[in-house]
Amino acid sequence: MEKLKCKYCGAILDTVLLPPENDWGVEYLMVCMNNECSYYVKGWDWMLEKYNVKASYRYKVNTFHGDDGPLSIRSPLDYTGWVVKKFNEKEGG
Ligand SMILES: [Zn+2]
Repeated sequence: MEKLKCKYCGAILDTVLLPPENDWGVEYLMVCMNNECSYYVKGWDWMLEKYNVKASYRYKVNTFHGDDGPLSIRSPLDYTGWVVKKFNEKEGG
C-alpha cells in the first residue's frame, strides 16, 4: 500500500486505530503524529487566539471516505496510544 504523507510537513502518516464507538464511523484514520508539524504547532496558537482554548489539531486522512482535514486534540498525547506500529516493530514489544 502506498504510504500517505502529511501535506504540511511531509512526515509519513501513522495509522491510528479508533475505538468502536467513534464520531468518524471508521476503523482507523491516517494521522500526522509529528510534534514538529507546522500545522499542529500553529494549531495551538490559533485555537488559543480564536477560541481561547488549549487545543490543536493534527493533519488526518480518512482513507475510507477519501477526505482529509483536521483531527482536533486537547493534549499532545491524544491518540498517541492508538497508533498502530508496523508489524515487525511489535515483535518483542
Ligand atoms: Zn505533518
